[in-house]
Amino acid sequence: MDKNKTETYYILFEKMINSMTSGVKFDRREFVEILDEICNLFHISKGVTEFYTSLSKEKAGQGEILIDRDNGRGDKVVVRRRLVTNTMAVIIGTLYMAEEDEPLTNEEFLKVDLILRALLSFVSRNRLQVAVEMLGFYDDSGYPNVRSYSRFLEQLNEKKSLPGHTAVHFNLRHFSLINSDVGKDAGDVVMRNYFNLIKEVIGEDGIICRMGGDNFVAIFENRYTEQIMEILRGVPVAYDAAGDKRVIVSASAGFFIIPEEFAFRNEGDVINKIMMSSLIARRDDADSIVFYSDKMLVMKDQAMRIRRIFPKALEDKEFRVFYQPKVDVLSGRIVGAEALCRWFREGKIVPPMEFIPVLEQHMDICQLDFYMLDCVCKDINRWLAEGRNVVRVSVNLSRKHLVDADLLEHIMEIVEKNQVPHRYIEIELTETTTDVEFKDLKRVVKGLQEQGISTSVDDFGIGYSSLNLIREIPWNVLKIDRCFLPVEDDCETDVTNLMFKHVVSMAQAMGLECIVEGVETTRQIEILRENHCNIAQGFYFDKPLPVEEFEKRMEEACYAVPEGE
Ligand code: C2E
Ligand code: MG
Ligand code: MG
Repeated sequence: MDKNKTETYYILFEKMINSMTSGVKFDRREFVEILDEICNLFHISKGVTEFYTSLSKEKAGQGEILIDRDNGRGDKVVVRRRLVTNTMAVIIGTLYMAEEDEPLTNEEFLKVDLILRALLSFVSRNRLQVAVEMLGFYDDSGYPNVRSYSRFLEQLNEKKSLPGHTAVHFNLRHFSLINSDVGKDAGDVVMRNYFNLIKEVIGEDGIICRMGGDNFVAIFENRYTEQIMEILRGVPVAYDAAGDKRVIVSASAGFFIIPEEFAFRNEGDVINKIMMSSLIARRDDADSIVFYSDKMLVMKDQAMRIRRIFPKALEDKEFRVFYQPKVDVLSGRIVGAEALCRWFREGKIVPPMEFIPVLEQHMDICQLDFYMLDCVCKDINRWLAEGRNVVRVSVNLSRKHLVDADLLEHIMEIVEKNQVPHRYIEIELTETTTDVEFKDLKRVVKGLQEQGISTSVDDFGIGYSSLNLIREIPWNVLKIDRCFLPVEDDCETDVTNLMFKHVVSMAQAMGLECIVEGVETTRQIEILRENHCNIAQGFYFDKPLPVEEFEKRMEEACYAVPEGE
């Protein structure tokens, strides 16, 4: 081998080793160019690398064949090397020459062989890296996982470009329903297509990963936020090749717009924020998209504190019943009362809105509700013993109770234990959002009715109240929320006015008692009378009262009402 050729060989060999070990992203094009030059140097006409993931795959001939070069000149094998990796994958490299070309000298053969061996070990290392990457950074279904997400966050942070990006955690809504509607396999396609839809929008500058189940996280440049929100609010997603079969997919999501001054210590700084806001977005009473704000941290701390001190507070009897009278608007007589909870904590009264929603996130609320029912029953029992003119008292029960298969027994146990005649108890429940809850609600209301205990639909008019709710469930009372109550009735055709009128007459035609909550003005009392809805509860008569004051009202028995026309 002449001196020049040997020199060129060493230069090319060094270039090849450099490109294989440079550490920066591997440049495949450059690498192939080097190999090409080497082949030219030794008149190699063709080079083939075969890759098999296992020995049995090799036997069966099921592998990948990478043809690195073929100039079409010849097929005479000059070197063939087979390498078995420690994961039992097989890599085979074969080099060919043209029949008519001069064969390699011994020295040339050794040089070519060295190149081939180096190439094979490089391919094997690369394949191993891909396998490790797939194992560590992707889940079983091939979605990038949370480790991919963390790595992407670290990379952005490294480049100091986290600000300018928006992170999001989202949970697909009702995905189990979609799965049961279209089947598991089509459900997988739906999920993949929805994922791809988002991936397409955010492109290479962002990432979307699956956290598990139907939970995902993504991060992208701020300019895509609107578009992503639109997709999360709900879009049709196809699950067949033609795109004819489609379902609407939406998600509840927590966003975090990363601020300029954001201090990143680790990925948890981002993930915790989007998970926290996403959790809020999942609640029935919240918007399905929630943006993170530092206020949430304070609220979370407060909520945790409430949960922590609740059991002791209950034991120490810090919760008390206040009674708000329900009044007949024609006679001014008290015809009932609603029991509302007040928390006496460190000399202050904590209003229900500050603790009920927190307790409602867990089953803690059930303990409180049963405690309230027990207090009410004790009061009624005492009033009866004192010979008072007792009225029916309604107690609020959270929807959380509906999963309790023995709810009815629990209620009856408390009522019986206090020997309260059933007609004095009414249970208030709010409407439900899911079919399962609806069935439970129906069962509970029916059961209570059989026991002679009244039931009422609370807050009718807000949220998801459907007419089905009052058609299919045998309620006694409809509590119409104040949002249905016209404030000004100047315009007879005003929508609120019309709805109020018709809701009242429909409910009455169905044999339901109607009561309006939140009545505050004389004019509202007149509107109630005009619509023949005769029972009101509201500040016009009284706020919720401590028991002693309510007892005084029971004695007085009558409020002044506006003169009739
Ligand atoms: P709710 O059951 O709809 O109770 C009526 C709420 O309206 C009460 O608020 C009452 O004080 C208020 N209200 C009554 N009249 C008027 C009025 O004229 N104007 C205005 N602006 N408001 C009026 P409160 O006591 O703050 O209770 C809020 C909610 O907390 C209740 O709404 C109920 O959902 C829940 N809650 C209260 N106590 C309990 C309880 O023991 N258990 C459960 N599960 N929930 C409870
Ligand atoms: Mg109520
Ligand atoms: Mg209400």
